[in-house]
Amino acid sequence: MSAEIYDAIIVGAGSVGTPTAMKLAEGGLKVLVLEKNPSAGQGQNKAAIGGIRATFSDPGKIEICRRSLEIVSTWNEKYGDDLGWQRGGYCFPVYTEELENKLKDLLVIQRKHGLNIDWIDAEAMKEMIPGVNPENLRGGTFSPDDGNVSPLRTLNAFYKRAVKLGVEFRFNEEVTGFTVNSGRITEVKTAQGVYSAGTVVIASGADAKETGEMLGLSIPVTPDTHEAGITEPVESFFSPLVVDLRERPGSANFYFYQNYEHQIVFCLTPNPPIWGKDRRSTSGYLPMVARRLIELVPRLKNVRVRRVWRGLYPMTPDGIPIVDKVREIEGLYLAVGLCGQGLMLGPGIAENLSSLIIDGKPVVDREILGEFTFYRNYNAAVEMLK
Ligand SMILES: Cc1cc2nc3c(=O)[nH]c(=O)nc-3n(C[C@H](O)[C@H](O)[C@H](O)COP(=O)(O)OP(=O)(O)OC[C@H]3O[C@@H](n4cnc5c(N)ncnc54)[C@H](O)[C@@H]3O)c2cc1C
Repeated sequence: MSAEIYDAIIVGAGSVGTPTAMKLAEGGLKVLVLEKNPSAGQGQNKAAIGGIRATFSDPGKIEICRRSLEIVSTWNEKYGDDLGWQRGGYCFPVYTEELENKLKDLLVIQRKHGLNIDWIDAEAMKEMIPGVNPENLRGGTFSPDDGNVSPLRTLNAFYKRAVKLGVEFRFNEEVTGFTVNSGRITEVKTAQGVYSAGTVVIASGADAKETGEMLGLSIPVTPDTHEAGITEPVESFFSPLVVDLRERPGSANFYFYQNYEHQIVFCLTPNPPIWGKDRRSTSGYLPMVARRLIELVPRLKNVRVRRVWRGLYPMTPDGIPIVDKVREIEGLYLAVGLCGQGLMLGPGIAENLSSLIIDGKPVVDREILGEFTFYRNYNAAVEMLK
């Protein structure tokens, strides 16, 4: 049986694979996406709570997420899909001098990269988050151009446009192997078939390590589990996504916002991290996050939680994604290790990776994308706001 022939094959219809397929098809390529789940976004994309920010410490992440913000904020106008986009900003309330100094130092880098972000005083913070605990509140940072979307609506909009542009999606097809001939990738294999292409993109999220092993590559992506939850809708009373960077027993920080349907969506970073792929909810999460929510905004104490869930961050050692052309295998690209920011990095990475594949150069400065290289020293720099 001869293999079906495509210009590009993408492994994984997730936060980055789906928009990348769409962008490659926009550039005129015949694209196939192979996905082991029954539909797009069923990996970690649907676990995301919906935050989209350019507020990072790493210049590459800042640039890429600025592009993502531009793409999602103009999507409805261009293509007529409501992504649930709200430009509510991100704010980081601060209660200690140490964190104030750290965030103020970071402001210098962030502004250098053109971010619209500023320090606001305690009074302004109280107005921004009505009912925020005022004791020892020093103020914090606020970046008004950041926002939030519905992860499901967003991915579905990318999927719909990809299909319209001719991308073929094959669901329930797990990639099990590849053919590499004379240092060039030529085929992708599943239990159902063999597909041929000159270009292959690995976008397999939390399974990147296992996919890499099929090609003899050691991809440093380790899944790290995080839990989230959503409340009943309550009258809208705050706009930004709020990040509380204080450590508390069992958690390094937590964050929450009120979505386009007025529900409060919240997430917590476990400390120590919980590595692995177990997606069963834990009994400890809800009491821990509820305590944190009520400590920061006591008026939330009577809001009822509708459901909780647990998903995986595909983590790299430095918290920076891997987006690169593989030197050892001609035609092979990586778009993996999106950590806790795949939803917000996905559209910007898709635009740059497709440009790299089609035109040989990214849209942003080559040096910026160079930070995401597979061949970097993973112990050199660590993203502060990962
Ligand atoms: C609780 C929680 C909250 C989060 N909140 C946010 C947020 O607010 N904002 C944000 O930007 N990010 C957030 N994230 C992170 C975000 O969900 C991930 O970074 C992102 O989904 C990863 O994108 P990806 O495309 O790499 O992986 P995925 O979206 O998981 O896509 C990878 C796909 O590859 C498929 N696949 C794997 N192996 C194979 C194979 N061999 N063959 C075929 N298919 C394969 C998988 O089934 C999957 O569909 C959150 C994550 C969690 C868990």
